[in-house]
Amino acid sequence: MRSLICPVCRATNKDAVICRRCRADLSLLHELDDYRIALVERARGAVAVGDVEGAKDWLAEAERIRPGSDTERVAALVALLERDFAGAWHHYRLAFSPREP
Ligand SMILES: [Zn+2]
Repeated sequence: MRSLICPVCRATNKDAVICRRCRADLSLLHELDDYRIALVERARGAVAVGDVEGAKDWLAEAERIRPGSDTERVAALVALLERDFAGAWHHYRLAFSPREP
């Protein structure tokens, strides 16, 4: 289940295409979120084959849309591949900090 915040009224909507409060159309936000999820998956795939630069590119594009715990988890893996242990710890901690709806 995905949770989106309505840009019009700030209501949290769970898998709703129409905002439960103000009836705004959220379908474009769902499409953008689907695209973001695909970018994070591409970054994970790049990590799996050791493609650090590719993973960074996919992550950067996903984070331009919205940073989140999923991008921080992959960023931690990228940092580990680069043997940047302090960076990995930083991203790991961000991944589990309460900042997402
Ligand atoms: Zn709304």
